[in-house]
Amino acid sequence: MSGSNALRGLRAAVVGGSIGGCAATLALHRAGCRDTTVYERTTGALADRGVGVAVHTARYAELEAAGYLDASMPCVQLAERHWYVRDERAPLGRMLGSNAFPFRTYNWGPLWRELRARVPEGVHFRSGTPVLSVAESGAGAAVHTEDGSEPYDVVIGADGYRSVVRATVCPAVEPRYAGYLAWRGAYPESRLPDSESWPEHSCAYVVFSGGHVVIYRIPGADGDVRVNWVLYTSAPVGPGIRRDDPSSVPPRALDGSARTLLYELVKTRLPPFWATLITLTRAEELFVQPMYDFMATPGVRGGLALLGDAATVARPHTGAGAVKALQDASLLETALRGADGDLSGALGRYDAARSAAGSSMVGLGRQLGRALVEATPEWGALSSSELDAWWHRADAAGVFGGRQLKK
Ligand SMILES: Cc1cc2nc3c(=O)[nH]c(=O)nc-3n(C[C@H](O)[C@H](O)[C@H](O)COP(=O)(O)OP(=O)(O)OC[C@H]3O[C@@H](n4cnc5c(N)ncnc54)[C@H](O)[C@@H]3O)c2cc1C
Repeated sequence: MSGSNALRGLRAAVVGGSIGGCAATLALHRAGCRDTTVYERTTGALADRGVGVAVHTARYAELEAAGYLDASMPCVQLAERHWYVRDERAPLGRMLGSNAFPFRTYNWGPLWRELRARVPEGVHFRSGTPVLSVAESGAGAAVHTEDGSEPYDVVIGADGYRSVVRATVCPAVEPRYAGYLAWRGAYPESRLPDSESWPEHSCAYVVFSGGHVVIYRIPGADGDVRVNWVLYTSAPVGPGIRRDDPSSVPPRALDGSARTLLYELVKTRLPPFWATLITLTRAEELFVQPMYDFMATPGVRGGLALLGDAATVARPHTGAGAVKALQDASLLETALRGADGDLSGALGRYDAARSAAGSSMVGLGRQLGRALVEATPEWGALSSSELDAWWHRADAAGVFGGRQLKK
């Protein structure tokens, strides 16, 4: 078998119907599979946190050519990154430097809905069906739900960071807590006074001792524009957030005093324009994500294969979380198209390709975490050329935004 008939006659399952799961379903379809079931534990539409996803323009072009993204998906085009540090005399702070920043930004909810709409007709999308476990079975794999056990030739685990599929494929992998948090928020741009003093095409990196905040605009769900920010720092934590092994705190669940601590921090460390931007975030728009990373090696076992966050989580400084899930799907498609009757060989080739990309992103996330949070330079003393040199040391391999997709 070759080309788009490589999987004809085989049964496939995908666990998880988020960005990675929808893309994996497309990959299977394009490789010829006409009998795919998606198991998604959530009922109906996935709950949207309304925050952003950034995609490097070069990675976008590759994913568009591969058929996983396209121009009809609403985005905001960024062109430049401006670095600011607090300075009493300027509301936006002093600009330390600027550089090209060719990224498209998306709103996670509409992006997921576009991908979900591309899941081919005929795929059985079983919402509200959590997978309890998976197991190797003969040449394939079995999926266990409350309804019983179903056999498949191939099962893709796209079930995110706490994957049940990974528990069978690579039980030894340990997500590693990086020791700091990301605070995130987004809201309509119309709420922000003087928004015109911050150009539309600009991504702001506002830096302070022990952290930074990344701020850019994203499309809203109704043709409007939203302000999106993510602030990384190891302090403060506040009540309700464990220091040693924290878990995500969703919107509305964040203790009021933790919010107060964050707002105190931004008022003392950020220039006033950016501090105001963050404190305008309402309680229901604010959430916390602890930083973890890991890579599952191997990511394939028998007829089971991991994809997206189930396989690898790199710290989001890399600007490539959703890109990596989509690239995994594209690599899976390429490997399966060349299966030529040897599914296990194809999954092995997929694993080699995705782990090369995954390990470079985990490595970059750790380097950028160190440079931007754990061991920040004396920002105010950096000249523009020193800032450039510092960045190039932190991203020595030049893979910020995701590695080139090699098919
Ligand atoms: C609701 C939601 C909102 C998100 N919002 C953003 C955002 O705004 N910005 C951003 O950068 N990233 C966001 N992410 C994370 C982002 O999607 C991922 O980091 C990246 O795109 C990789 O996606 P993924 O599909 O591999 O994993 P995830 O997006 O984590 O998806 C995993 C999916 O598997 C399902 N699942 C998990 N366990 C089981 C099980 N046992 N049985 C069946 N289904 C299961 C989950 O419900 C989920 O839909 C969000 C994820 C989710 C689930």
